[in-house]
Amino acid sequence: MSTQDDTILVINSGSSSLKFMLFKMATETMVVKGLVERIGTAQANLVYQRPDQPKLEKPVTANDHGEALSLVCGMLVDPEVGVLKSLAEVNAIGHRVLHCGEAYSDSVAVDEKVKAVIRDYIPLGPLHNPPNLQGILACEKVMPGVLNVAVIDTAFHQTMPKYAYLYALPKKYYEEDRIRKYGFHGTSHKFVTFATADFLGKPKDELNAVICHLGNGSSISAIKNGKVLDTSMGLTPLAGLVMGTRSGDLDPAVVIAMMRQGLSADEIDRILNKESGLKAINGIGSADMRDTISAANAGNEDAQNALQMFAHRVALYIGGYFTLVGGADAIVFTGGIGENSAYSRKLIIDRLAALGVELDEARNSVLRGKPGVISTDTSKVPAIVMPTNEELMIARDTYRILTSR
Ligand code: ADP
Repeated sequence: MSTQDDTILVINSGSSSLKFMLFKMATETMVVKGLVERIGTAQANLVYQRPDQPKLEKPVTANDHGEALSLVCGMLVDPEVGVLKSLAEVNAIGHRVLHCGEAYSDSVAVDEKVKAVIRDYIPLGPLHNPPNLQGILACEKVMPGVLNVAVIDTAFHQTMPKYAYLYALPKKYYEEDRIRKYGFHGTSHKFVTFATADFLGKPKDELNAVICHLGNGSSISAIKNGKVLDTSMGLTPLAGLVMGTRSGDLDPAVVIAMMRQGLSADEIDRILNKESGLKAINGIGSADMRDTISAANAGNEDAQNALQMFAHRVALYIGGYFTLVGGADAIVFTGGIGENSAYSRKLIIDRLAALGVELDEARNSVLRGKPGVISTDTSKVPAIVMPTNEELMIARDTYRILTSR
């Protein structure tokens, strides 16, 4: 049933927003993107942007995700600014879904069972799974009969062996409570793994790499033969690196100490997820890497220390994962910081001399937002930048499942 005109709608549905992108898969071109934000409030707003066209923005009434989607659909077929003649041109819809635990190791066509699994994992993804499901239900209502595909953030990490994903806790916590490492950013790690294999001219299943997704949220994956061997996020996205507002790894006894101070679980959750990381340590209260670098350059010692803490933790994971994959074909940088911040990349790569990674300062300082090598020609291991594209990965997986039916 597929034709050259296969059109894929990508939906990323959050608690109060619904983001969308429309792709034409023959050329993998994004033809429009946008969002409805502040859904369910009097300030709901629609943003609609075609490439090379002015961004359109207008206040709307959107009481729930279904109404938001109807508004988006109205824009897609609008006689003036629309990009489709009819909604029937949408061949399938790809949904970003946070958590499906151990149920799926690949993207999957949505049916009643998939919806039940998304519901079942709400306790482990309380902020994301409910709106992800609402996005799917809205599409089923507004565009009945169109294939919906769930592209799941935890899926790519399902190849981790048991010795990597189990915590050394009494068995009950895994067997009854499903407490284990799941990993997140899987759609990004998958896209970047495949793009890196292409870039290096290697078959995907022969690639060994350390993928550093450094953004507001950050995670690192160890890729062995094209599959995830280990990753730095855990039961939740709180584990691993120092992030914009998340602490990353801690001695678990820190949480016990906070409890003994009388803090509740919710308060500790908020402190570790929203009040920690760069925001807590850079002396300027900003979660943003650019602000941190500016403050460090202006002489702020807390900001300088925050940059060192960030790079120290990243290098620690790179060293460990490099060893576990048996030597990587490349150290790969992606995400807002990884793609754009020459400064942060230098702080990290300067710590990797023992692995034989050698930074080319000139290459590093000019490379932003596009694929390329930032190490010297004599570096034993190449360091590269590879921009991520989670929406395109969702569209590709959706198209693959559409055309394989
Ligand atoms: P998210 O995890 O929300 O998707 P991004 O991947 O967009 O976040 O990354 C956002 C981070 O990238 C911010 O900390 C921002 O300061 C940082 N960033 C973006 N551009 C630059 C730059 N040129 N130099 C340093 N940091 C940058």
